[in-house]
Amino acid sequence: MTRVALVGCGGLGVPAAWTLALGGKRQFRLVDADVVEESNLHRQVLYTTADFGLPKGAQLAALLRERFAADVEFVPARLDAANAATLLEGCDAVLEGSDDALAKFAVNDWAVARPRQRTAVIAAAIGRRGQWFAVTPRSSCYRCLFEAPPPPESLATCAIAGVLGPVTGQVGGYAAQALLHALADQADAAAGALVRLSPRGLQRTAVAAAADCRCHT
Ligand SMILES: [Zn+2]
Repeated sequence: MTRVALVGCGGLGVPAAWTLALGGKRQFRLVDADVVEESNLHRQVLYTTADFGLPKGAQLAALLRERFAADVEFVPARLDAANAATLLEGCDAVLEGSDDALAKFAVNDWAVARPRQRTAVIAAAIGRRGQWFAVTPRSSCYRCLFEAPPPPESLATCAIAGVLGPVTGQVGGYAAQALLHALADQADAAAGALVRLSPRGLQRTAVAAAADCRCHT
């Protein structure tokens, strides 16, 4: 059975975990270094005021075990390029929903590294908008679209720019559904495209594989 890693247990990770569990997944590894704060509650709907100061991953793990009898590992760490291979060892698929652009590239690079038999969905949300990209063994990848992470000073984060609670709920759910499709018989249909959610609805843009990208070399 597939062990799915969730990188980020916040606004995207919580609804993604719930959706993956509803989709039948029962083995998880949660990777998150944050604790629950009052400012999280409007979008991270499984946490309560009783959880303030407690690790998000520990609380989400307890909920998944209690509600779904899931096998859940919690790793209280912040994933980066240097530790990604170690933190994700033994996982077959990853849903990246953290607030960290570098983690998104690290998960992408883990997914496309040889031998390439891994699946990842990389998701983000800010303000009224969100997006996700599914990488499968035969698809283009996140670097075919974005060659490198943007400089840190250009990044708006949810902590600075804010995000609407319903947007994270929807994007987390969609991203998890994309991962379920990518792991099932709809892999080619679900992957290799950037899907955006905005007030105008959903927009899907196919991403061609870049000839010089590391997903091909
Ligand atoms: Zn690529």
